[in-house]
Amino acid sequence: MTATRILEQTPAMTLQREADRLAALQELDLLDSPRDEGFDRIVRLIQQIFDVEIGIVSLIDAHRQWYKACDGLSFGEIPRDASFCRYVVAAEEAIIVPDATLDERFADHPAVTGDLHVRFYAGIPMKTKAGHVIGTLCAVGKRPRAFGIRETGIMQELAGVVMERIELLQTASTDSLTEALTRRAFKTEADQMVTLAQRHAHALSCIVLDIDHFKSINDTYGHAAGDIVLKAVSATCKHTLRATDLFGRFGGEEFVVVLPYVDMDGAMATAERLRKALEGLTVDIGDKTISVTASFGVASRSLTGKDIETLLAQADAAMYRAKQEGRNQCRSWSALQKDAVTGGERKRVLRTGFILFDDRRNLVNCSVKSLGSDSAGLVVSDASDLPEEFLLQIPADGIETTCRVIAHDGHNLEVVFQ
Ligand code: GH3
Ligand code: MG
Ligand code: MG
Repeated sequence: MTATRILEQTPAMTLQREADRLAALQELDLLDSPRDEGFDRIVRLIQQIFDVEIGIVSLIDAHRQWYKACDGLSFGEIPRDASFCRYVVAAEEAIIVPDATLDERFADHPAVTGDLHVRFYAGIPMKTKAGHVIGTLCAVGKRPRAFGIRETGIMQELAGVVMERIELLQTASTDSLTEALTRRAFKTEADQMVTLAQRHAHALSCIVLDIDHFKSINDTYGHAAGDIVLKAVSATCKHTLRATDLFGRFGGEEFVVVLPYVDMDGAMATAERLRKALEGLTVDIGDKTISVTASFGVASRSLTGKDIETLLAQADAAMYRAKQEGRNQCRSWSALQKDAVTGGERKRVLRTGFILFDDRRNLVNCSVKSLGSDSAGLVVSDASDLPEEFLLQIPADGIETTCRVIAHDGHNLEVVFQ
């Protein structure tokens, strides 16, 4: 962005632009979604065409840059503040850095001064049709290099291909790896089930399950082995569930179930059956045998009626509590409620949030992913150093409130407003 353009933009406009950008990103519902071979291929193409070590397709939410596909780096996300790509989001245009040691924005960056030894960076905005930059396509190299109009043009073409694939994925109803329903298809069907349950006042429950320490399975046995484990987990769950249950894949290693006509006790029993089935599952890969466990959260529609987003948020919170308390266990939202009474509906949002503590001396950026009148679901880069109580600001909603953490895992926090 040029200096004059920065001057022209009032902070209010920038805030609104960012809120709209996050809304566009939320609409696509791609954050933390499963890996996809199509994006992996584009990343490999970037490496080959430009002879660089690292290729990235990333999405940028309020607090982090999340890699939808990445080759050449061992981590899957970094705090937004630490990313090169935040400049691409701010400028809404490509940023090419032939030699990072000569660029005052990046010369002191740990990725440049440290072992990663980044020298060259090309970051291309991925724009929606409405012009919102939802993420970036990057080529990153360990040697300085020139990058002209022709090369930038190729990257822009590839960014176009990525956006087309993103649109195409919106129409898919099953996940190609596990054959579970995609998020979008799951939610559409779940919505209908919840509406029916409300109309006829019958029970309905929801289970969220997340494989424990899945990253270490990938790290130990490789991604291909991880994929086989995911398939086996999905098959085991489907086999354990009834044909009328709805089964979807929400994240890399996170699955969701809607159980129509099943109350909380029944859903806890089903979750426990799933937990045992997965605990007993062994996956043979070559001469290795891999075993897994998962953590479960359960929520049930009460007679007051809840929408699917609220149920999912409650099941999520219960699942984070199961993680927090040692993993390989099932927790219910109603058990959580005993120490934190929250009743309101939740809406799914994607907003910028600020966590303040130590008399406002410390500030941590977060993404607000769900919001109710008395509670919220937050995501941070690292939850381990946060206090149990803090001040939460959500500028877009004019919210400033003291919060108490009722459940968390490494990144996710469920909080109730005090
Ligand atoms: P926790 O017990 O706290 O849930 O730890 P975790 O390691 O399971 O959770 P984390 O979110 O740190 O790691 C999830 C990993 O799942 C990281 C990511 O690379 C991997 N993953 C996501 N999608 C896929 C996929 O489609 N295939 C494979 N093999 N791995 C995937
Ligand atoms: Mg996990
Ligand atoms: Mg997970």
